[in-house]
Amino acid sequence: MCNVCRSLGTTHPTGATRRGLFSVGMGALAATALAGQARAQPARSAETPDAAFARLMEGNGRYVSGKMNERDFSAGRAARTQGQAPFAAILGCADSRVAPELAFDQAPGELFVVRVAGNFVTPDGLGSLEYGAAVLGTKVIMVLGHTSCGAVNATVGALQKGNTLPGHIADLVRSMKPAIEPVLKTPGPDLEQRAVVANVQANVRRLQTEKPILGDMVAAGKLRVVGAYYDLATGNVIPV
Ligand SMILES: [Zn+2]
Repeated sequence: MCNVCRSLGTTHPTGATRRGLFSVGMGALAATALAGQARAQPARSAETPDAAFARLMEGNGRYVSGKMNERDFSAGRAARTQGQAPFAAILGCADSRVAPELAFDQAPGELFVVRVAGNFVTPDGLGSLEYGAAVLGTKVIMVLGHTSCGAVNATVGALQKGNTLPGHIADLVRSMKPAIEPVLKTPGPDLEQRAVVANVQANVRRLQTEKPILGDMVAAGKLRVVGAYYDLATGNVIPV
């Protein structure tokens, strides 16, 4: 039995590697999380991927119009100790100006957020998103880029100049290069924005087909993976 996926009733191979050890840990977490989820919000599992996506965009509409829901954060603390059932996952940039819970007007417990400068898929980030979907029940994953992204712009600059950025920042460039490099073949004033979109779309495609968990859930209609970027100037989240 797969410790990660036993809640799905499927079997996946594991090995006596770091991945295997990770799976065992996830199995224990899965049992706890599922028990907590059942106690906390039993109705959430009925939500569809399309409804989850619509809920994100409606929240962004409230944020943009300045009509965000009023929240008493202290009121939900006791319930949140019993478990979590986030309806959506966000793979977003580490940029301090792009805060998913604010941009989508969601409360604690609603979003499962993975952030890394440049919002691209890393092995650990992928494991987190798999956990969110297979164990916690997220119905949609949104890869969220944004305008004026320093990580994207740094990658564009490094590829254009052929230079190497210091320290581990170079690793960011190396990871983002496959998605962004093709954009450089068509120069123009909107190059950096096109690179933002290309980076989002490449990571959406990867998550949609990533085996064994996310790709299978997408194929079964249990999960949607979508791409969008956040416009810093307006607050709008624009699907791409
Ligand atoms: Zn960024």
